[in-house]
Amino acid sequence: MTVGVLGGGQLARMLALAGIPLGRRFVFLEPSLRPPAGALGAVVRGAYDDAAALERLAGQADVVTLEFEAVPAEAARALGARVPVRPSPEALATAQDRLAEKQLFQQLGIPTASFRPAGAGERWEDALAATGLPAVVKTRRFGYDGKGQAVVRSPAEAEAAMEALGGELIVESFVDFDRELSIVGARGADGTSVFYPLTENHHREGILRASYAPAPNAPPDLQAEAEAMARRIMERFDYKGILAVELFQKGNRLLANEIAPRVHNSGHWTMNGAAASQFENHVRAVTGLPLARPEPFRPSAMLNIVGELPPPAALAAVQGAHMHLYDKAPRPGRKLGHVNVTAAGAEETDEIARRIWSLLPESTPMPAPSWQRDTPVRALAV
Ligand code: AMP
Repeated sequence: MTVGVLGGGQLARMLALAGIPLGRRFVFLEPSLRPPAGALGAVVRGAYDDAAALERLAGQADVVTLEFEAVPAEAARALGARVPVRPSPEALATAQDRLAEKQLFQQLGIPTASFRPAGAGERWEDALAATGLPAVVKTRRFGYDGKGQAVVRSPAEAEAAMEALGGELIVESFVDFDRELSIVGARGADGTSVFYPLTENHHREGILRASYAPAPNAPPDLQAEAEAMARRIMERFDYKGILAVELFQKGNRLLANEIAPRVHNSGHWTMNGAAASQFENHVRAVTGLPLARPEPFRPSAMLNIVGELPPPAALAAVQGAHMHLYDKAPRPGRKLGHVNVTAAGAEETDEIARRIWSLLPESTPMPAPSWQRDTPVRALAV
């Protein structure tokens, strides 16, 4: 069975690395010349909205999936007429529009920050009256890694931000969260689902730098609540594949921020820290295989390598650390790889992670997992 992937970046590369042992073949639709996934399958070179290229992909694939959200939903729908597309183009269309996404949360009774549409044809004063200040102004489409958004603290700042961002916008109340979490789960062809433990995520300049899993001090009811949210979204779309939901935790409440209809950076730790990785479970789900158990083995940390690559030999010398390089040219702000760390206890994981962090081109201290901030040090219950 051949899996067609819209995109040939690092997520496609890791999907293939997990799917090949399951007997799957891969073909990637990718515009760039030397994509990270290129060594692992056939490449159809073309843009994501190039009808002829999509046709060639459909001709070579038994099922099509995607590795990122910038694929036009129309192209995914057109492909769907030829070959199954998983997850569904409707899930993709919703994830592409921050307003549709927030409205979905609302319809499904999933708590989220208060929000209003803004920009074209809407009075920004009305939006701010609903959200209050401070607020976050975001473009409805094509925002990623913190781009296309601004935190505003006064009506004047709001007006300026809306002018600068332009087009269709959404305004949300600013959430003074305690921490950011995500839930990553898979729904299989038979409608069953599995979930990884909540993961704690730390961003800098809008880019994920570190994840800790299982999220420290996340009681079972918080996990159950996050799973229930993700399950409702999956059911709405008759979802097949991995779904990630990004969450804010404030006290014992969870607010949903956004969804990703694909494997997610905050699930990369599962490659070394869980019984089966998110990549394996995604391939299983989209190709009709039973899902694999997602249990974590031990506490994990995942550190992204952003902008510049340290000498691979230095990373490789750190025992207990697992290197995953994407074969990408360095560029500021670009994710070039990640390192997974997993050890017997939280403290040992942290110690190894710090050694890795010191090799990374980061100018600030490693973000501390919340068990070091809030509570006495204790082994994580896994
Ligand atoms: P997003 O592009 O929606 O994932 O936002 C990127 C990052 O901005 C999030 O990971 C948060 O750190 C922050 N952020 C987004 N929305 C809000 C909000 N309503 N309140 C506070 N911080 C936010």
